[in-house]
Formats: sequence, C-alpha cells, structure tokens
Amino acid sequence: MDKQRQSQRDQLFKPELHDPYLRHWHAHGDAFCPECGVSYQAGRWSWQELDDAEHAERTACPACRRIADKAPAGNLTLAGHFVKEHSDEICNLLRNTEALEKREHPLERLMTIGDDPEGLVVTTTGMHLANRLGHALEAAYKGHADYKYSDDQTLVRIRWERN
Ligand SMILES: [Zn+2]
Repeated sequence: MDKQRQSQRDQLFKPELHDPYLRHWHAHGDAFCPECGVSYQAGRWSWQELDDAEHAERTACPACRRIADKAPAGNLTLAGHFVKEHSDEICNLLRNTEALEKREHPLERLMTIGDDPEGLVVTTTGMHLANRLGHALEAAYKGHADYKYSDDQTLVRIRWERN
C-alpha cells in the first residue's frame, strides 16, 4: 500500500467522520438519551449523570437510533457444528463480552443474536464490539475468523467458523 492510500485509510478509520449516526454529534451540546440513559457531555458518551441534566437535550443516542433503524455497524456469522452444539455457552460469552465493552464504550452494544441455518447471526451497534466478539470467540474456542470492512469503513462483516 502506498503512502497516500495508507493515510486515506487512517482517516477512514475515524468513524465519527464517516458514520452517519455519529457525524453530526460534535455540534451538539450536552444531551441525554431517554431510551437507554446514556449521556453526552463535553464531546464524550458515558453512563455518568450529567452535571446539568435539566438543560440537556433529550434525544435518542446513535446506538438507540441504530437499534430502531435496524442498521447494524457489525454483523457476525457464527457457523459450524460446534456453534449449534454450544450455542448457550457462546451466547454467554457474547453477552459477557458486550457487558465489558459497553461499560467503557456506551455506544457499543449487541443488537440481535438470531438462529441461522449455518449457526448464529449476531448484529452490533458498533464495529469495535463486533471485532472484540470475533477475537473473544477465537481466544475461547479457536476456530477461524475472517474480518471484512465496507469500502467506507462504517460496517464490518465477520465470519467465524468452527466445526
Ligand atoms: Zn440510547
């Protein structure tokens, strides 16, 4: 990869510039999402209470908007016999991994875990969580994972397989 391409790639990795759900948030003042309780203060999302909740804007956060729009940023397919035989255990790993991620990064959430002819399909509100889930599956159960980003770097598709 040449230098120019590399620098374009680095820019593209700033999701707040390209993700339609994040793009305009830097212009907002303090805000509070009545759906999930997350707050936006001084340009940061957190689970902390706002200093001045009374004057904050009440509006759905980017994660709740993605959930309402059914527009995931991460899509994982978990395929193979192993997945079908251990689906409860795998779901626990996915939920525990989400809980850890969400504490630090409130916009990174699981959207759906669903059955699929191949095994399971999982969607997330953030690419970071999707990646973390892929790595957690590999760390816990080996298998093979494949990560593919959309051209505009706003969606990651992951396929993890173990037979
Ligand atoms: Zn929310």
